[in-house]
Amino acid sequence: MKKKYIWILIILVIVVFITIPVCHVLKTKLNETDKKTDIPNGYANDASQLNLTKVDTIIKVPNDKKEMINQLKEVLKYAQKHHLKISIAGAQHSMGGHTIYPDGIVLNMLPYKHMSLDEVNNVLIIGSGALWQDAIEYLDQYGKSIAVMQAFSSFSVGGSISVNGHGWQKDSAPISSSVLSFTLMNYKGEVITCSRDKNPELFKLVLGGYGLFGIILEVKLKVVDNKALQFKYFRLSPENYISYYKKLILDNPKVNLVFGRLKISNKEFLEEATLNFFEEVDQKPLPIHEQNNKNEETKRLVFRSSVRSEYGKRLRWDLEIGMNKITKHNVFSRNELLNDHVSLIENKDPNSTDLLQEYFIPERNFNQFIKDIKPVLLQSKLDLLNITIRAVNKDEDTYMSYAKEDVFGFVFLFNQKKNEKEEKEMKVLTNQLVDVAIKNNGTFYLPYRLHIDREKMRKVYPESDEFFRLKKKYDPTELFRNQFYDHYK
Ligand SMILES: Cc1cc2nc3c(=O)[nH]c(=O)nc-3n(C[C@H](O)[C@H](O)[C@H](O)COP(=O)(O)OP(=O)(O)OC[C@H]3O[C@@H](n4cnc5c(N)ncnc54)[C@H](O)[C@@H]3O)c2cc1C
Repeated sequence: MKKKYIWILIILVIVVFITIPVCHVLKTKLNETDKKTDIPNGYANDASQLNLTKVDTIIKVPNDKKEMINQLKEVLKYAQKHHLKISIAGAQHSMGGHTIYPDGIVLNMLPYKHMSLDEVNNVLIIGSGALWQDAIEYLDQYGKSIAVMQAFSSFSVGGSISVNGHGWQKDSAPISSSVLSFTLMNYKGEVITCSRDKNPELFKLVLGGYGLFGIILEVKLKVVDNKALQFKYFRLSPENYISYYKKLILDNPKVNLVFGRLKISNKEFLEEATLNFFEEVDQKPLPIHEQNNKNEETKRLVFRSSVRSEYGKRLRWDLEIGMNKITKHNVFSRNELLNDHVSLIENKDPNSTDLLQEYFIPERNFNQFIKDIKPVLLQSKLDLLNITIRAVNKDEDTYMSYAKEDVFGFVFLFNQKKNEKEEKEMKVLTNQLVDVAIKNNGTFYLPYRLHIDREKMRKVYPESDEFFRLKKKYDPTELFRNQFYDHYK
């Protein structure tokens, strides 16, 4: 071949493999705006950005325990005297007005974040407003780590145990399994301790109880050792996911953290998966402040460039696979891996929002569920950004359990325009996906949008009537109220 043609070929390869992807990601950056959608004074909203609601007042609690208890008692008295309802807010990453009630008082618990560690018994005593990131940074000094938490560290302890979140920690039930006890302020302003032995009924109701039974003040959490973990990954067909999960994860005592991902570009839609896991290695984990910058803005832009773009989705998958190959065998600390902030996927488009949905499916129906969701997702015009898979062990602790047996959680992230058309389409899609979950003996997760009606919700949570009856037993004046309660009760 002539030299000239070789050069043309080289330039073409550079354009296709470097310039086009770089331009695509840069275009995403240039189209973004840093203008935040401000919440007007006197209003509250949550992570959905679709729940702007006028409220009476937002009250920030103080950090000091004594002052906080006195202040909360006064607020409760004031609310009762003026017939106001109280909703409780942590980081407000729930998406269905779970932290908001129209014309009510919103309690912002975030400032209440003191913590101490009982090193002998491996117990963290923590204010319910603390974020996981605060807890991780604190525990890191002692060589300890959170036992069970969600995939991001931007959530509050109180909010996380009130939805009973789950994570990607191997062989773990939801967060409730790591809660030893908590104190709760009830509607009378009394502070009660709840554990598996003391007030066990209330313990079961408050965990996964969406702020309906009182204000969680202080929580005692079991903690585990921080570890050095080495990254491994495996590319596979979703049909083989369970068998490889058993072989590579369950049969391997060194695995500590694990998640799966399904390919969501139109090319090979749901036909490829990755199994990503971290094995314990015999090294001392590096302290969190000595760890490298993780190129977070680049990762975020690659993720954002997949929104409403088939090219971006393929690019993201290929880049992640490429990065996996490069970082395979890299060693991280457990705390570093758990300490990812939601800003990693932040959406800076004021006209759209990212919404989550989660379905929990027993192993026996894993493949059928994937088969059944495929046509539903393909016929929907909504933009699917991600599906991750996490195993969740049976939950023995909460009243409204979504993991009634060992299950696999499928976490879906969608991008939705903030308009009525896409809101309606999302309602249709959510109902179709819930129907598929029900057909496969699965459940759906409750902290997200309220697109399911109370009848269908009861097919998944038959204990709901009793749960809402017990809410009135413990809170007869329905002082603690939010949009989740009004929708499903
Ligand atoms: C990007 C993103 C990723 C997510 N990933 C995961 C995941 O991996 N796994 C998972 O399980 N979930 C996940 N979630 C859901 C998340 O766990 C819940 O939304 C959780 O509630 C977030 O905590 P928060 O502090 O924002 O709670 P909030 O939204 O503030 O509150 C949630 C509920 O808890 C109640 N509450 C809060 N604080 C208290 C208190 N002190 N006392 C009594 N009640 C209280 C509120 O009233 C409300 O009903 C994710 C959400 C987002 C947006």
